[in-house]
Amino acid sequence: MKLFGTTIINEKGHLEIGGCCTMELVKKYQTPLYVMDEAHIRNQCRLFKESFISDKVDTEVIYASKAFLNLAMCKLINEEGLSLDVVSGGELYTALKAHFPVERIYFHGNNKTEEELHMAVKHDIGTIVLDNQYEAHLLSEICEKHHKHINVLLRVNPGIEAHTHEYISTTKNDSKFGESIFSEATFELIKWIDDHEFLNFRGLHSHIGSQIFERESFYRQLGIMMTYIKTVKQNVNVCIDELNLGGGFGIYYVDGDTPFDINIFLKELLEKVENDASGLNIPIPKILIEPGRAIVANSGTTLYKVGSTKKTYGGKHYVFVDGSMADHIRTALYDADYEAVLANRMNDEIEENYTVTGKCCESGDILVKTAKLPKPNPKDILAVFSTGAYHYSMSSNYNLMTRPAVIFVKDGSSRVVVKRETYTDLLRNNIE
Ligand SMILES: *Cc1c(COP(=O)(O)O)cnc(C)c1O
Repeated sequence: MKLFGTTIINEKGHLEIGGCCTMELVKKYQTPLYVMDEAHIRNQCRLFKESFISDKVDTEVIYASKAFLNLAMCKLINEEGLSLDVVSGGELYTALKAHFPVERIYFHGNNKTEEELHMAVKHDIGTIVLDNQYEAHLLSEICEKHHKHINVLLRVNPGIEAHTHEYISTTKNDSKFGESIFSEATFELIKWIDDHEFLNFRGLHSHIGSQIFERESFYRQLGIMMTYIKTVKQNVNVCIDELNLGGGFGIYYVDGDTPFDINIFLKELLEKVENDASGLNIPIPKILIEPGRAIVANSGTTLYKVGSTKKTYGGKHYVFVDGSMADHIRTALYDADYEAVLANRMNDEIEENYTVTGKCCESGDILVKTAKLPKPNPKDILAVFSTGAYHYSMSSNYNLMTRPAVIFVKDGSSRVVVKRETYTDLLRNNIE
C-alpha cells in the first residue's frame, strides 16, 4: 500500500488527507465521497511545469481535462499556469464558465459537431486539434463564414502500439483517432490546411495511449514524429512549428505498477527533441504534452460505508459498500486494480483478501478485485485510493444512483466543489 501527497495515518489510527481526518469528513459530507488532495494536485502540476523546461525548446503543459473537470479544477489549473484540453462542447462550456483563458484551451475530439466547432470559433478558442479531412473542411467553412482565423493542429496516427490495455491504446493502425502518417492523403491534407486563409496551421498532434510505463514508447513516438516532420517538409514543403505528444504517463495503482520518474523523463525527452532536430537538420519545434491521469489520479480517494460482508458457498469473500460501478467504473471497464483500506482501522491487522462490490444489480459491479483488509464490520469506512482520474468524469446514474459529492481538502480545511446529487436531480429532465 502506498500513501500519496498529504495522506497519512493519524494518531487515532485513522486515515487523514489534507490535514482532515476522514472520519470527520464522512460525518460532515456523508458517503460515498470523492476526496481530492488539493496540495498534491498542485504539486503534480508544478512537477510537470517545472520539469518540462529547456533553454532551447519552447514547451507547454496542457491538462487533459477529461480525467477530472469542474469549475474549481479549471480555476486550479489556471492558477498553476497549465493550459487545458477539452474534448466536447460540455467540457468547453465548463472551461468558459470558469473564465479559463481561451487562448490556452485546446479542443480535441474525433467527431466534433458543427455546433461544437461553431462554439469554439465564436469564443476564439486558442487551438482546435483537427482529427480528419471532413472536420478540416467543416471548420474552414465556419471560419470563412464568420471571418475568423483559428489555430489548428492535425492529429495523426504514428502506428505505435504502447503496452497498455486495448481500450486505452489509441495509436495502432486501426485506431479511430487521427489521420495515418503512412497515408499519402495526409500530406495533401496538411498542405490544404496550411494553404487555407482562415486556418493557421501550427503543427501535429499524436497521443499513443494511456497508463504507459515504458519511457521508450514515448521516445519512439518522438522519433517517428520528428522524422515525419522532415518528410512533410520534403514532400509538401510545410514547416511544422509545434509537436503535441499527448499524454498517457502511467501512474501507481497497485504494487507492481512502476511509473517512471516524470522529472527525469521530461528532461530526457527534451534532450531527445534537440538531438533529433539537429540529426534531421530541422528547426526545433515547440513541444506540448497533455497529462491527465498523472496530474490527478493519486490525489483522489473515494470513501464508502461498509454494509454487509458475505462469504459465498464457493468461498469468495465479499464486502459490500454504499457506492458502485456507477461511481467507480474502471475495474469493470478495464479490469483495473486498486488498493483499499479501512480508513477507521488503519492499524488493525489484515485478515484476508476481500472483493469490494457495490449496490448495482450486476455481477460485474466490482470496485476492488483484491483488497487486503481487517475483518470489516458494518459502518466501517472503506477508502479506495488513486480514484482522482476517470472516476467522477466517468460516473453515471446507472440504477439511478446519485453521484457522490466531490470535496477538496487542504491544510486542515475542506470544501465542496461538486455537490452530491439528489433524487430531485435524477428527475430534473423527466416529463410526466
Ligand atoms: C486522454 C487523453 C490524454 C490524457 O491521457 P492520460 O492517460 O490521462 O494522461 C491526453 N491527450 C489526449 C488526446 C487524450 O485523448
